[in-house]
Amino acid sequence: MSDSPLIHLGSLMRSSEDAHAEGELDHLNYEQGGKTQTLTFTEPAPYEISVNSLGGSEMYLQGSFEPTITMECARCLREVEVPLELTLGTLMRYEPSADAPYLEEAETGEEVLIFGDSTLDLSGYLAEITLLSSPLSVVHDPECKGLCQVCGHDLNDGPCEHMAGVPVEEIDDDLGIPQSSGHAKQNPFAGLRDLQVPEE
Ligand SMILES: [Zn+2]
Ligand SMILES: [Zn+2]
Repeated sequence: MSDSPLIHLGSLMRSSEDAHAEGELDHLNYEQGGKTQTLTFTEPAPYEISVNSLGGSEMYLQGSFEPTITMECARCLREVEVPLELTLGTLMRYEPSADAPYLEEAETGEEVLIFGDSTLDLSGYLAEITLLSSPLSVVHDPECKGLCQVCGHDLNDGPCEHMAGVPVEEIDDDLGIPQSSGHAKQNPFAGLRDLQVPEE
């Protein structure tokens, strides 16, 4: 499994021959806010990409990418595997001054992939497409009961004491242990409560 998805566009740029790349990725490294971020996939994510010339410095990229990402259930926070099937279709433009490839919004509102090297690293492009296509939130099961708002208990594992109809206001902050429980007597300092402290 290669580290970065590369596509070689040299012969496309010389002779308009289509360029092709395919493989599997277990992660993508990409730049965001000047830092390198890693997007990890649950299982090897297959990609297949071809690029053909539109004349001049313009090209068109098309293909598919099927990453499975891990997200948290919006209700109970357990990990959920989210398989994505992405259809790729993006205009590309060669600009020799571009250091690293980036997506730019064209006047039409369409994203154009700008690149400056005939060996194009598709990591940033595929990461951005994946993030843009990910759902904002997922639930691990439509029936997920979520977490207890008081104690954080996962209600999918069964009810907790707070679900027995006790109004939230009546629950003691110390995990609901009543003041009169045996704990007070075992506390070596419990007797101090009875000391009379003379006032000055
Ligand atoms: Zn859940
Ligand atoms: Zn609870």
